[in-house]
Amino acid sequence: MKSENQHFDISKHKEYLHVIKENISLVSPVYTNDPLNIYLLLGNHTALLLDTGCGLYPLKSIIADLIGKRELLVFNTHYHWDHPLGNVEFGEVYIHEKEVDIISKPYDVSYFMDSPNEIVKIYAEKNYLIPPAKKVNPLKEGDKFDLGKIKVEVIHCPGHSPGSICLLTNTGELFTSDVAYYGDQFLPKREKFPEVLNSLSKLIRLCEKQKDLELYPSHRQYPCDITLLTDLYKGIENIDNLWNTKKPFDFFNAWQIDDEKFRYFISRS
Ligand SMILES: [Zn+2]
Repeated sequence: MKSENQHFDISKHKEYLHVIKENISLVSPVYTNDPLNIYLLLGNHTALLLDTGCGLYPLKSIIADLIGKRELLVFNTHYHWDHPLGNVEFGEVYIHEKEVDIISKPYDVSYFMDSPNEIVKIYAEKNYLIPPAKKVNPLKEGDKFDLGKIKVEVIHCPGHSPGSICLLTNTGELFTSDVAYYGDQFLPKREKFPEVLNSLSKLIRLCEKQKDLELYPSHRQYPCDITLLTDLYKGIENIDNLWNTKKPFDFFNAWQIDDEKFRYFISRS
């Protein structure tokens, strides 16, 4: 099998921003949103790692090399499996208060037992139960962190998951997590669409206030701009009109609907 340095694709996007990419389709071909983008922000005295990925290969030594003597904060954008499974390596992590309980327990990935892909052997060795970080701290809307020169603010954007967060920096970046990216969209059941749209509106308002804001999603291409948010908003709003085209997609227990720009998986439960 590959080593961690071949597994992750590491690039320096800006002097203070590294992107560590991981292909999640390696775990199961049902996932097509490659790559997952793990972001590392380097402040003067503190670094912030946004997500820890799939937990397949060690990540900590890679991060240690990049941050030098800085302190390290580790955040999860939300609890879905592709974002927090490397947490155990880091000891202490932060996630929105609504998702603290979920990631404080061993994470059950037994739904990958039938994956045709060789790499799931790494999960099998752990009996498909991935251990959590020792300490999980809660985040909430408006929390601010000073990394030295770079400041970040937590924006709570429920919808994709109850505790999804985005991060706004004072250096012009908006990390949109899985709230907005170009790729297959995972949505809650239809009754919760107003919440999804409300979170997208919140981000659209931020972009209207600050025109040069760059969007950094947790999957696929970056940086994006406000068009991503408005495309997604219009698409989700239009799902009602496409409802009779829905097809069941059982692995996700979801309805699948496609339009010209996105594929949507809408939870059935
Ligand atoms: Zn994701």
